Amino acid sequence: MFTAMKEDRRVMGDTQKTELVDVVVVGGGQAGISVSYYLQQRQISHIVLERDRAFSSWHNRWDGFHANTPNWMNTLPIIDKSNIPANDPDGFATREALVDYFEKCLEAVNPPIRTNTEVHKITQLGEGIWKVYTHDTIYETKSVVICVGAMSTPRVPKSAVDILNSVPQLHSCEYQNPAQIATKSVLLVGSGSSGVQICKLLCQSGRFEQIHLAVSSVVVLPERFLGIQIHKFLHFFGLFDWRTDSILGKLMYSNLESKGDAIMRPIPSDFAKLYGVQLYGKFIGTDGSLLCFSDGRTLGTDDLTILWCTGFRGDYALIETRDREAVFDKAGYPNHVRGVVDAASGLYFVGLRYQHTVASHDIYGVGKDAKYVVDHIHSRLSDRVTG
Ligand SMILES: Cc1cc2nc3c(=O)[nH]c(=O)nc-3n(C[C@H](O)[C@H](O)[C@H](O)COP(=O)(O)OP(=O)(O)OC[C@H]3O[C@@H](n4cnc5c(N)ncnc54)[C@H](O)[C@@H]3O)c2cc1C
Repeated sequence: MFTAMKEDRRVMGDTQKTELVDVVVVGGGQAGISVSYYLQQRQISHIVLERDRAFSSWHNRWDGFHANTPNWMNTLPIIDKSNIPANDPDGFATREALVDYFEKCLEAVNPPIRTNTEVHKITQLGEGIWKVYTHDTIYETKSVVICVGAMSTPRVPKSAVDILNSVPQLHSCEYQNPAQIATKSVLLVGSGSSGVQICKLLCQSGRFEQIHLAVSSVVVLPERFLGIQIHKFLHFFGLFDWRTDSILGKLMYSNLESKGDAIMRPIPSDFAKLYGVQLYGKFIGTDGSLLCFSDGRTLGTDDLTILWCTGFRGDYALIETRDREAVFDKAGYPNHVRGVVDAASGLYFVGLRYQHTVASHDIYGVGKDAKYVVDHIHSRLSDRVTG
C-alpha cells in the first residue's frame, strides 16, 4: 500500500547518505522484531536498526541463565503457538533454548534489519517528520518506534562511587561466568531474579571461599498455589493483562516499582542454609574501606569483588524533540498512552516497563503492544494518504 520511498541522495558537504522510509524501528530485540512483523502485515515500508545483532540481549545472558517465566509465557505471537522454547510448556528455558526459539522467530519474520548499526541521534524536524542518524546514513521518516529495551542502562547505588578503586566491581549485565571473578570472596548486591540466579551459580561453582549477599525487599511467590503453577494461577485471574491505568494495576505497579519484580525459590535464606552464604541488609554506603548495610553489619573489601544485581533503567537521551518537557517526564521517562506519544506525532515506544500491562516488557506482553502501535501508525499514515 505504501511505497517504499527509497531515495539515496548525498547531503551537501556530508559523508552520510539520506534515505526516506515510512517507519524506522530502533532496536532488534523481541519488541523491534514484533513491530517489524506487524508492519510487514500492514505492508508498511520500514527498516530495523540494531547496534548488535537481533535478540542480542538474549544471546548475551550469562552462562547457566534460565528464564524466570515458564515457557508457555515465553512465546511471541509471530510464530505458531505450538512452537515453545525447549518444547516444554511448563519448564523454564535456558539461554540456549530461548535463543533457538528467537532464531526461529527471526527466520519467520525475515525483517529488513541492519545489524551492527547504532542509532546515535533522533531529531524531530516538524510535525510527524523525523531524522534518525547512524554512522553512514540519515533516515528521514514519518514514524520512529523506539524499541531499545526498558533495561538498557545498569542501575547502581550512588554511594558506590565512594568504594575504593582497588575493589573490582561489575554489574549483572557484564557478568558472564564465575571465572570472570578473580577474588576469593564476592558480594552480590540485590536479591531480585538476577541476584538469586547468579548467587546460586557462584555457589555451585565452588570457586569462592566466601559469598555474601545484600538482600533487597522483593516479593517472594510460591512455585505453586493450590497445586497450580503460580504463573498459571495468576494468568487465570488475568493479572498479566491488568492495565497500568486500572486501580488494581496501579496498586500492583507501585509495589513492583519500589520492590522489584517478584522472585520464586530459591531465596536468600535457602543459600544461607545450603551454601553458607552470608546475608546482609541493603547496601547503604561505605565507611573507609568498609561496606555498610542497613542491618548495621559491615564487610571488609579485601580480596572481594562486588557484583551489582541492582537492576536497570531505560535511557532515551538520544531522542531530541521540539518540546522535551511535554514528551518526557522529569526522570526522562516518555509521556505516552500505550506507546503512542501525543506530544510528538510519529514517536512511538514498544517494550517500556509496564507500557500497558504488567507483562509489557516481558516476552508474553510485547506482541500485543507492538500490534497496537503498528495499528496506530497504519491509521495515521492512511489518514495522510486519504486526507
Ligand atoms: C536478566 C534479565 C532476565 C530476563 N528474563 C526474562 C524472562 O525470563 N521472561 C521474560 O518474559 N522477560 C524477561 N526479561 C525481560 C525482557 O523480556 C527482556 O529484557 C527483553 O530482552 C526485552 O526485549 P526488548 O526488545 O524490549 O529489549 P532488548 O532485548 O534489550 O532489545 C533492545 C535492542 O535494541 C538495541 N539497541 C539499543 N540501543 C540502540 C541504539 N541506539 N541503536 C540501535 N540499536 C539499539 C540493543 O542492542 C538490543 O538488541 C529479562 C530481563 C533481564 C534484564
